[in-house]
Amino acid sequence: MNAIEQAEWTIEQSNELYGFERWGNDYFSVSKNGNVTARTLNAEVELMDIVNGMLERDLQMPVLLRIENILDAQIHRLNTAFRAAIENLGYKNEYRGVYPIKVNQQAQVVEEIATFGKRFKHGFEVGSKPEIIIALSTLEEPGSMIICNGYKDQEFIELGLSAIKLGFICVFVVETPTEIPIILERSRAMNIEPIIGVRIKTTVNVSGHWNSTSGDRSVFGLTATQLVDLVDLLKAEGMLHCLQLLHCHLGSQIPNIQDIRSGITEVCRFYADLVKEGANLKYIDLGGGLAVDYTGWGSNYAQSRNYSLSEYCEDIVDTLKTNFDDYGIPHPVIVTESGRATIAYSSILIFNVLDTTIFEPTRLPEPHEDEDPLLTRMRDVYGNLSESRVQECYNDAHFYRNEARELFKRGQLDLRTRSAVENMFLDLLHKIADITENMQRVPSDLEGLKLSLADIYYGNFSLFQSLPDTWAIDQLFPIAPIHRLNEEPKRSAVLADITCDCDGKIDRFVGTEDVVKVLPLHELREGEEYYLGVFLVGAYQETLGDLHNLFGDTNVVSVRINRDGTFDFVKEMHGDTISDVLSYVEFHPKEMQLRHRNTAERAVREGRITARERQQIIKLFNESLNGYTYYEKED
Ligand code: PLP
Repeated sequence: MNAIEQAEWTIEQSNELYGFERWGNDYFSVSKNGNVTARTLNAEVELMDIVNGMLERDLQMPVLLRIENILDAQIHRLNTAFRAAIENLGYKNEYRGVYPIKVNQQAQVVEEIATFGKRFKHGFEVGSKPEIIIALSTLEEPGSMIICNGYKDQEFIELGLSAIKLGFICVFVVETPTEIPIILERSRAMNIEPIIGVRIKTTVNVSGHWNSTSGDRSVFGLTATQLVDLVDLLKAEGMLHCLQLLHCHLGSQIPNIQDIRSGITEVCRFYADLVKEGANLKYIDLGGGLAVDYTGWGSNYAQSRNYSLSEYCEDIVDTLKTNFDDYGIPHPVIVTESGRATIAYSSILIFNVLDTTIFEPTRLPEPHEDEDPLLTRMRDVYGNLSESRVQECYNDAHFYRNEARELFKRGQLDLRTRSAVENMFLDLLHKIADITENMQRVPSDLEGLKLSLADIYYGNFSLFQSLPDTWAIDQLFPIAPIHRLNEEPKRSAVLADITCDCDGKIDRFVGTEDVVKVLPLHELREGEEYYLGVFLVGAYQETLGDLHNLFGDTNVVSVRINRDGTFDFVKEMHGDTISDVLSYVEFHPKEMQLRHRNTAERAVREGRITARERQQIIKLFNESLNGYTYYEKED
């Protein structure tokens, strides 16, 4: 590509093509150098500078980059948006956020949330004993909330009661009636009054991927009858005053604000009747659901959202206020358990591209007087290329290509002629695909043609380890090159990872208005790395990843952007070594070394290798055990 061609492509075009400012929530953009920037505190850094810093510190690709300030800013935005809505609408109580640890329970992340959330008394939602132990060891501010969801045994409940003693507002959200006797018995034994919450089943069916979390068939929450039984039981035990929180979780990633409003209206109805029954309700917990606009379309598509953060907060506060004013009930503390929206933006998976497969003719044969008749026929197809004859040309090209293969099999066509036919065939398919691009009605045979000709870019990552939702639930994440954005991306590609699994590929991407099947990318340059970023991957991905093909955790780097535009590497963690992942699946690296040594020694005895060669082979094996599981380029 020459300099004049490059100058024609602008960073604005890249911004529009990849949508950084549509889905980036003001955190991502493109610098005039053509590099992706991360922006907080009015300061901007180029991701490539961070990548170069990683490489200098021997942190090889792939790397999960966490930007601390983005997490900090998201906690700030959530709390201040609720506070603003409360003030604007005259709601007479406060907002208290809790972060659900399951969404990303990595120690660095949870500790950062505890630190950044302290000024807002941002608490934790926990669903198991390990999670409540995390909460108890990271939260510092008395009065912070710990919401205990999930099935709770005696030990879990004792940990929760001890949290109350330490000054936290620790609520046992009753998921099933069987938990009640244990809560009552342990609280009497420990002489600590429990704070009880109850999770209800709402009937509203929200749109989006997680709609089974609400509705009659939801596996969580009490039915209306179970709720009445709970009230009667607590009344009989003289403990109804302990029922202080009403909980519901309409689903994760709710794209449509109207579903949220209508769900909350139903929750208010439950709340009002429980108050009438004598419950001492003080908190209304609306669970998660605040969506991330992964596509940037601002629509009610499952992976988008048709509302802003301030609209979400205002709609919630307004719905609660209107309902509680109508019922004549004091406004409760508003609790939400936003996970995805809190954490998604702050992590980016960065990887290098190792290789490409390009489905293009390498060279086309010049016309020749005594060329094979099949080549002449193929040339005729070129002559017929037009919108009206596109299907016919497609059929003919296939026919002659297949004929060439048959003749080759029978020894009637040589290798060079077959190669010439194959090249012309590929060339024709590209030309046919170009014609179909502008056609209003594309013949069904030709619909997937462009995609079938797309390049394959092989990325140094494992989909199953780093982007499991892409595989499991067709989750879309914005993906883009993090540099060369002042050059036109002239290739169209799908991505393959380095697992040897045919599912380890990405062929659905965020387009400007729709899901697209190919990603525009740049040609690889000899001797130069090409880096791609997968954005908004902070929520759920690290937790759900698995060890497919034994690719382990990637390297992780946390940076903090400073006001002067510099950045610090605040934390770094080397990913799993081969030895680590082997021990996860119950191999014992020491024993493996010993067995390998015995195999090598036998090879010496049997004369296959020398003792010196044995040493080299053993050294390689032992060094590999300590190496990274991903593709490493030699210096
Ligand atoms: N609270 C509960 C009870 C959940 O089950 C979940 C996730 O499904 C969340 C909160 C977090 O939801 P989100 O990530 O949509 O904020």
